[in-house]
Amino acid sequence: MAIKFIEELPIGGKRTFVRVDFNVPLSGGKVSDDTRIREALPTIKHAISRGARLILASHLGRPKGKRNPDFSLMPVGERLRELLEMEIIVAEDCVGDGVRKLAADLREGQVLLLENLRFYKEEEANDPGFSEKLAQLADVYVNDAFGCAHRAHASTAGMVAHVKHKGIGYLMRKELKYLGELLGKPNRPFVAVLGGAKVSDKIAVISSLLAKADAVLIGGAMAYTFLKAQGVAVGKSLVEEDKLKVASEILKQARERKVEILLPVDHVVAASPDDAKGEVVKGAIPEGRMGLDIGPSSVAAFGTRIASARTVFWNGPLGMFERPAFAEGTLSMARALADSKAVTVVGGGDSVAAIQQSGVAERITHISTGGGASLELVEGKTLPGVAALEE
Ligand code: AMP
Repeated sequence: MAIKFIEELPIGGKRTFVRVDFNVPLSGGKVSDDTRIREALPTIKHAISRGARLILASHLGRPKGKRNPDFSLMPVGERLRELLEMEIIVAEDCVGDGVRKLAADLREGQVLLLENLRFYKEEEANDPGFSEKLAQLADVYVNDAFGCAHRAHASTAGMVAHVKHKGIGYLMRKELKYLGELLGKPNRPFVAVLGGAKVSDKIAVISSLLAKADAVLIGGAMAYTFLKAQGVAVGKSLVEEDKLKVASEILKQARERKVEILLPVDHVVAASPDDAKGEVVKGAIPEGRMGLDIGPSSVAAFGTRIASARTVFWNGPLGMFERPAFAEGTLSMARALADSKAVTVVGGGDSVAAIQQSGVAERITHISTGGGASLELVEGKTLPGVAALEE
């Protein structure tokens, strides 16, 4: 089904409500990382250049349905003024008579930033009355908040039905293009790299990838559930005992579908994550030791697979990368992606952090701004924030 792009929408002179993801970290009353604001600039600048009367709306943090100055978007407004080099209006609320008047009085090319949507519990509840109030502000609705597209909230889903014209912005288009291509016709070989703590969080995505990918490389704590399911000793590594059966089933399905699953063949182990140094073991992990990173032979094997891939999707760290002693596997993976000639797509907070830590972000094809949303998309789920925009 067709979804309109902002360039196709009649935004000139119209009150254009853009749902952005300005859920940025604050420190000392200032924005400490403005990546998400900068990601929204192409859409904002386009709307301004077309003479839209622009209304920007976002949530920030978890104020739990109550007005709380710690979660105010005022600092975001400050940063946005600097980035746009123009005056913008920052409202003290996101609905109500005052906001309606501000929206009605907007001149062409002017920008109004609404206060935190989650100061109202009705936002996350997708409350019909609240949705209508938001919709009353707008002639055109644009969603550019990919990171929230997997949530059916008032500002991402409920209000959309009440606005005549609707579509997506530049960031959302980019996200849907790169993540959508993984599920459509990826260049082959298509290799997926999955890590992180829990198998349970990744079952759906692995199942989806078994139908799409040529190889799935598994690292992180979740690898130990798979290794144990194969009868390999894993010492006191993190294992989800109740997922051993599922892990065996996934391995069986992979064999049937001729999808290669690569598990680590060596590990950096320690008595506890607090140890300052680990040691490398091949194969079985001794009693009393836990695997906290993939070892050098596994790094090499994963690297070889990535070097010959033409499409790579990566989600989740391959070890406890927050600790320097157990970060090498994850950081090497970031470098392997950067060095590869494949289309490389990275989704999820921790893998994005590893990419940034390695200083290779410039050499990755697409770094998704939405961890949960990108996983759900790759799982093959319909995102409510996207479905609402279909004509
Ligand atoms: P997730 O949120 O599922 O992507 O998991 C990310 C977390 O998994 C990170 O905080 C890592 O430190 C942790 N992690 C990755 N590998 C291991 C491991 N081998 N043992 C313990 N924790 C791990």
